[in-house]
Parts: sequence; C-alpha cells; structure tokens
Amino acid sequence: DITIDALDKSFGRTRVLHEVSLAIASGEFIAVLGPSGCGKTTLLRCLAGFERLDAGSIAIGGETVSSPRGHVPPERRGVGVVFQNYALWPHMTVARNVAYGLKISGMAKPARDARVAEVLGLVELGDLADRRPADLSGGQRQRVALARCLAMESRVVLLDEPLANLDVHLRGTLEEEFARFHARSGATMFYITHDQAEALALATRVAVMDRGRILQFAPPEQLFREPACETVAGFIGEGR
Ligand code: ATP
Repeated sequence: DITIDALDKSFGRTRVLHEVSLAIASGEFIAVLGPSGCGKTTLLRCLAGFERLDAGSIAIGGETVSSPRGHVPPERRGVGVVFQNYALWPHMTVARNVAYGLKISGMAKPARDARVAEVLGLVELGDLADRRPADLSGGQRQRVALARCLAMESRVVLLDEPLANLDVHLRGTLEEEFARFHARSGATMFYITHDQAEALALATRVAVMDRGRILQFAPPEQLFREPACETVAGFIGEGR
C-alpha cells in the first residue's frame, strides 16, 4: 500500500503540489487525471524518489520513503517507472534492454534469460528480441519499456502517460495489456493520464487533480454520479 500524507512541493516560488493526500491499497489501479500542468508528473516523481518533499510524507509498504527529514533513493523503493519517453538504451538489443536491470540486481544469466523471454512474450515482442530500439515503432518501444518494468516484478508500477502519442489502435491494444497485467500481477498501478476515457476504463479509483490539489479520489462510477465540484463534473463530462 501507498500512503501520501499532506505532501507539499514547490519549485522556487511556484507551489506545484498543495497538501496532497492519497491512501492507496495494495493491488489498486489508480489513475491520476488532470489538465496539463496540474502537477501529475511531479507527484509521480515524488513517489519514485526523483524529487524531495517540502512537507508531508510518503510511505510505501509501511516504510516511510519520503519526508522532509529522510529520503530513500529511487533504486531502493521497489518501484517500477515507465516514462513517456521510454528511455531505452539505443546500443542494446530489445532483450538486453529488458535484461539490464535484472543483471544489475544480480540475477544469474539462466534465470535472467528465462525471465526476459517470459516478459517479452507477455507484451508480444518475442520475435523482436534481437532488434535495436531504433528499428522499432513507437508502440513497440513502449512495449519494451513496459516489459523492462514488468521484468523487475515491482510491487508498485508508476506510468506517466504511457499511451500518449500512440495511434488509436495501439492505445486500445495496450490499454487491454495494462488491464491484463494488473489482473495477473496484482501490482499496485499508479497511472497518469489526461485522457478521461482511459482513466475511467482502467482504474479502480481515479484521483482528479487541478492546480496542485486533489479535487476528488473515487471509483469511476462515483465520479459520474456524485462529482465533488463543478470542476470535476466538467472535466469528467468532457470524456463522455
Ligand atoms: P502535463 O500533463 O503537461 O505533463 P503535469 O500535470 O504532469 O502536466 P507537472 O509536470 O507536474 O504537470 O508540472 C506542474 C507544474 O510545475 C508546472 O507548472 C511546471 O511548469 C512546474 N514544474 C515542473 N517541474 C519543474 C521544475 N523542475 N522546475 C520548475 N517548475 C517545474
């Protein structure tokens, strides 16, 4: 589980997150929905450990990983992150890109090879294991990034607009893949999007953000039935 308690974050004099609190149970699929610039990526970066907090705290699995007094570095949080720009190693094949983190974490080669083959199968990229990122489509690169994240078997997976810039067909396919992965792995998913339909289709609960605050945190059907304010109603309504 993840507990975010009264988190404040500013960049210089710009306050980007205001008293953000969210209690997320293990295995939930949380979508964070909000307009451009509302602070979604900053919140994800705080969770991942790439940003320090000004006030408040974050606990993952009962361990406080962020507070103004202490900071557990990203690599020790047991958190997988898929960024919008994928960040694959250009000189490595698909298989080596996926294996890299496993190698760093000390997994022996036979186990590593088996794990890489398994996750590449999951994202239907087994045939392309020997290609380099430059020879893949955007959607295929996205799948490699996802496979690399899945390989690590993180208990928490953070995804920053993973389907942005993909065509409609691929978005549909990958949306189903996220849902299947979530069902199979039981991982806690934290999924940023500005696409209402995507959030409502995938999430067990949606956090609607605006200008650095959480306006409402509720299951999709409740957002329709009982929007907490006009901003939420308007924002959710756009996606219908
Ligand atoms: P988008 O949907 O466009 O990606 P977002 O909701 O993810 O937006 P953030 O990227 O979290 O929003 O940015 C929130 C605000 O914080 C923006 O006004 C942005 O300009 C500002 N900001 C983000 N990172 C920094 C930084 N390193 N230094 C200064 N300001 C920043």
